[in-house]
Amino acid sequence: MRPKPPPNFLAGYPVALVTQIHQLIEQDKLGDVLLRKYPQAHAVRSDKALYDYVQEIKGDYLGGVGQLSKVAFDSKMQVIKQALGTHTTISRVQGAKLKTKREIRVATVFKEMPPEFLRMIVVHELAHMKERDHDKAFYQLCQHMEPDYFQLEFDLRAYLSHLEVTGRALWSVASVAAVNPGKS
Ligand SMILES: [Zn+2]
Repeated sequence: MRPKPPPNFLAGYPVALVTQIHQLIEQDKLGDVLLRKYPQAHAVRSDKALYDYVQEIKGDYLGGVGQLSKVAFDSKMQVIKQALGTHTTISRVQGAKLKTKREIRVATVFKEMPPEFLRMIVVHELAHMKERDHDKAFYQLCQHMEPDYFQLEFDLRAYLSHLEVTGRALWSVASVAAVNPGKS
């Protein structure tokens, strides 16, 4: 039985490139390709750790762009449907001053990914603090924060295709424990 065709995680990319990825998945080779390129899982295991991680990147590039009220992994989030993460801006009146409160939520699937993919999604979400839409200015800012942004987004989408078809996660928590023994 042939595997079911992957959903369109790679919509908009050149057809030849997409075909190549889909063939690698059908031949069960994409996992090895990705693991060779990204051998390790990251070690950001909790919402608190994620908050610190996001703050550090924000501090490097977007110091003056408002405050983050909350950063969390979100198990209910769908990666692509919700545009590679959600970004909410909640305005609330506080005294006479209108305060803007920002949250960054990262889909739980990113808990078991290499550091490069986590950085890519965090850069994406942080860029939305300055640029609302997925336009040229937005992607320029993403690239400024992470020069490999476009390659990483493509590789992430390739991995999501692999995950959808095979159901096999490549970077499990177990491998993180092996890299960082004693840490939970
Ligand atoms: Zn977005």
